[in-house]
Amino acid sequence: MAAMAPLARNVLVTGSNRGIGLELVRQLVESPNPPEHVFATCRDLDGPRGKALQELAAKYSPVRLVQLDAVSLASVQAAVKEVETQLNGKGLNLLINNAGVNSQATLQSAQQEEMLSVFTTNVVGPIQVVKEFLPLLKKAALEAGKDGLSCSKAAIINISSKVGSIELCVKILKAPMYSYCASKAALNMVTRCMAEELKDAGILCTAIHPGWVKTDMGTEKAPLTVECSVQGILNVLASLSQATTGVFLDWEGKSLPW
Ligand code: NDP
Repeated sequence: MAAMAPLARNVLVTGSNRGIGLELVRQLVESPNPPEHVFATCRDLDGPRGKALQELAAKYSPVRLVQLDAVSLASVQAAVKEVETQLNGKGLNLLINNAGVNSQATLQSAQQEEMLSVFTTNVVGPIQVVKEFLPLLKKAALEAGKDGLSCSKAAIINISSKVGSIELCVKILKAPMYSYCASKAALNMVTRCMAEELKDAGILCTAIHPGWVKTDMGTEKAPLTVECSVQGILNVLASLSQATTGVFLDWEGKSLPW
């Protein structure tokens, strides 16, 4: 029997030293059909926060550790160079913009510096990362030599949040978190624009809400384990096509309103 194809041949995940990012890398490399390369990126590879990722990389050869701070253009550009070298002429099929920061700031407590910092990480970061990796994504799309859109061909996945939905957030939150909600609403807009702009280049772009997940950000109060959320996300990614570019889905594949 022929082996099933991997979700994507070459994948990059931002913020992969803990939480959802780390679990994405783990499940990708532990799958029966792992990608050829999983570029597991984080901003501090050698510090204590990179330890779990270092251990994973020591165990699984497809894991390639790359330093990437999404808000530093120099760091993103250096990461592109390194990934390009390791890909050795091949393209990058799947880019997962997972890195993000939370903020509980309300209307009363929001401060300029904090608001701008959340926006920089959650919105400017993903745009910058896509902009710099675009040539490698385009290369993957061309290489695929087939019609349609999919994660195995070339795709950008933006990890968003339900609280970034203008329709849903008022029903979910008692006290709106101004900076965080607005940053994820902006990321949703970015997803929509990128999907439209890049579809003719053969690149899919979709926003995914991971659920409320037990991580440092989601806290222990969250109902979903990180294993369960990521399993769902990877199933959803495998199902994406031209019909689901430019949409907002949750970890179970349910469509969410903008
Ligand atoms: P965590 O707080 O557990 O992890 C966040 C990750 O992002 C860390 O690896 C962190 O790295 C990284 N990061 C932060 N800033 C940067 C940066 N400038 N450059 C590179 N990496 C960075 O969060 P989760 O795993 O829970 O969240 C992952 C994504 O899912 C986020 O985008 C979040 O908004 C979204 N999400 C999460 C939900 C939840 O319930 N957990 C719900 C809805 C959405 P470092 O260790 O260096 O800080």
